[in-house]
Amino acid sequence: MKHFWIFFSATIVLFTSGFAQKPEKLTSAELFHEVQKLNFLGTALYVAAHPDDENTSLISYLSNHKKAKTVYLSLTRGDGGQNLIGSELRELLGVLRTQELLAARNVDGGEQLFTRANDFGFSKLPKETLEIWDNDKVLADVVWAIRNIKPDVIINRFDHRTPGTTHGHHTASAMLSMEAFDLANNPQAYPEQLNHSDTWQPKRIFYNTSWWQYGSREKFAKADKSNMIKMDVGVYYPELGLSNNEISAMSRSQHLCQGFGTLTVRGSSEEYLELLKGPAATGNDLFEGVNTTWSRVKGGEAIGRILEKVEENFDFQNPAKHIPELIRAYQMLQNIEDEHWKSIKSKELKHIILAATGLYLEASSENASATPGSQATINLEAINRSSANITLKEIQLVGANAKIAPNKVLTNNQKENFSIDFSVPSSMMYTSPYWLNEQGSLGMYVVNNQQFIGKPETPKAFKARFSLLFDGSEIIFEKDIVHRYSRPDKGELYEPFAILPEVTSKIDEKVLIFANSDTKEVQVKVRAGKNNVSGTISLDHPTGWSVSPKSIPFTIEQRGEEIPLTFKVTPPNSESEGNIEPKITVGDQVFDKELVEIAYDHIPKQSVLLPSAAKVVRMDIKKAGEHIAYIMGAGDKVPESLEQIGYQVHIVDPNEIQNGDLDKYDAVVVGIRAYNVIGALKFKQPVLFDYVERGGTMIVQYNTAGRWSNQFENIAPYDITLSRDRVTDENAEVKILAPKNSLVNFPNAITSKDFEGWVQERGLYFPSKWSAEFTPILSMKDEGETEKQGSLIVAPYGEGHYIYTGLSFFRELPVGVSGAYKLFANMLSIGKNEVKKDSNVKG
Ligand SMILES: [Zn+2]
Repeated sequence: MKHFWIFFSATIVLFTSGFAQKPEKLTSAELFHEVQKLNFLGTALYVAAHPDDENTSLISYLSNHKKAKTVYLSLTRGDGGQNLIGSELRELLGVLRTQELLAARNVDGGEQLFTRANDFGFSKLPKETLEIWDNDKVLADVVWAIRNIKPDVIINRFDHRTPGTTHGHHTASAMLSMEAFDLANNPQAYPEQLNHSDTWQPKRIFYNTSWWQYGSREKFAKADKSNMIKMDVGVYYPELGLSNNEISAMSRSQHLCQGFGTLTVRGSSEEYLELLKGPAATGNDLFEGVNTTWSRVKGGEAIGRILEKVEENFDFQNPAKHIPELIRAYQMLQNIEDEHWKSIKSKELKHIILAATGLYLEASSENASATPGSQATINLEAINRSSANITLKEIQLVGANAKIAPNKVLTNNQKENFSIDFSVPSSMMYTSPYWLNEQGSLGMYVVNNQQFIGKPETPKAFKARFSLLFDGSEIIFEKDIVHRYSRPDKGELYEPFAILPEVTSKIDEKVLIFANSDTKEVQVKVRAGKNNVSGTISLDHPTGWSVSPKSIPFTIEQRGEEIPLTFKVTPPNSESEGNIEPKITVGDQVFDKELVEIAYDHIPKQSVLLPSAAKVVRMDIKKAGEHIAYIMGAGDKVPESLEQIGYQVHIVDPNEIQNGDLDKYDAVVVGIRAYNVIGALKFKQPVLFDYVERGGTMIVQYNTAGRWSNQFENIAPYDITLSRDRVTDENAEVKILAPKNSLVNFPNAITSKDFEGWVQERGLYFPSKWSAEFTPILSMKDEGETEKQGSLIVAPYGEGHYIYTGLSFFRELPVGVSGAYKLFANMLSIGKNEVKKDSNVKG
């Protein structure tokens, strides 16, 4: 789990955005902070459900103030959330949020683990959550995490006793954590895990309670706290020049796709832990009664005596002075029996030895990627920036059969460069998130290798192993292979080195809608992973559909180059759906993967290989109108979807809209959360309402209620109150309240069949109240709740129509749900329904 560009096991990295992938370089003061951590032998495990659930203040406090090994176990990777910064959703969002968590831990000094549970979307009750997740497997993974991490204390973010008061995933995370606390030490529980780990009994389990659990700060002030531990997590760290809450805010600000960018704060701040199980502590130390010194480990006392002295006499001007003691401690550590602490402390100690000598070791590939069976070159750099006596004995490429043996003394500040040419083994696995390699279920990923379960990332296939002699004693340092390059507008950049297929393919539009039986041209992009690739490509298709030509030959000269190839796809006459899948033959190999790259400044670039495919849907859909103006909000793929059914969609910048500009459009559609993210939009409401008054159609998709209410009053020309009402069961029965309304009749007749096959949810943030001018069209509810009528409401305004909808069109259209398309076409067409022009609004 050691990573070069995200060293999430140890260090505060003061630079965040744009620097997250660079190797860390510690100052003396930061190094001293690491030495202090080295001398604390205690572990805390924090448990919650999603990336961004975690209390970064507490994680940072435990890691940087208590100096404990602090691990956040997020049961899921957050696939079900929304995305404020890009178009990744579902699995790809899970990959992005995994990296955001690693970036957060990189800032707060914690470590990160997961389970196989998939964030399938909002769930109101833990009972439903645990039915969709495989309860037993997720519990097994929590037990597995405890057995591996061996925490002294566990802290639950959520209360296991209050189902229904928060997301079902949240309560479920706490319930599973409580069960696992009792099971981890039982050899009868998940005995197969004991081939790779031991049983373990944590001492205490807490609930990280808060005033909001009690309704108000006043009520919490009066509550009985005899069973709670109190901590001031606002402490200041002079060696870092930061308060704990400043670090916490910077950590939290890594969750950018969830809109968690936040101001830093300073000053005293209290956190409370309510004891759930284990012996009460007499003071406020959650580790009370746990030996957290080196004497905890058999043979550790002597090591501790050396390292405590280093801490006591730490030389900030010349930390390399401590190298002989650090090396001696390292050697003694190799002889202790306790494999758990040996592994943790060896890693920390090596990290300290590197930093104390200013040793810089780098293994950088000339290219960003290579293919199995190809030749590659790794450039190596080694430099010692201290007077310590260090010899570079050997550098081995783990994963390939290659090494060099320079046997060279590393003289103070004399750079040494080497290179290794090698063949990438033809059996080498591609670089891709391991949990996406197999088709999972709605609630679970499939991970066949027990050793991979929980790991945040796929372990790197290649590493460079540097053998160094310190005064003759050998220590081995492993570095992941990176690709280092520069850009004039960005400076120095690092990327992970990736192993990719010789050729990948991609159909840009993941869903192709055929609104009639006309043939459509479908473009497949073929990308070469190496130079000079030749082959043929064909397109698998569902029965009843036809594709021509049968296959297309191609040649690509340059690695990374992408060429478009065009097929003609003809649908059957009747409604039908299925997948088209590009298959590329090169020599005797068939390639069927798409390469998705996820690149943002705050995370390392991610390569994800997914089955290359697009869904094709032949639907009988009618529409009226032609030109649609679309105001983008937080980002959705609704415009592309509307183009598929024949609309011309014009993306409009709300800052530029002048009165009258919109009259040429048949409808104006406002993207999801537009009022939450575009401040200027509120000033344009009068222009938009004027357009409606003159006969236009305005459709507003969901905005979140909380932030909305502080911003601005008139989201609609009449009163509506947004709420947190949502219907999360994507199969919930839908009743049509206004059967004569244009929205369920023109030009497509909407029936219950049109609500089949929806994904993830029906909708969210429905209005709970609206003025009499509005007509609610649909009613739906989750099990055990009251009917919600606010998912789709419409009002006449002047000559036109205003529609507000919290239905999840942004999820349904991109995956080709035909009923959602028909309903959307009806919304866009409402102004064209001449037959019932006067009476079409009231059902
Ligand atoms: Zn959550």
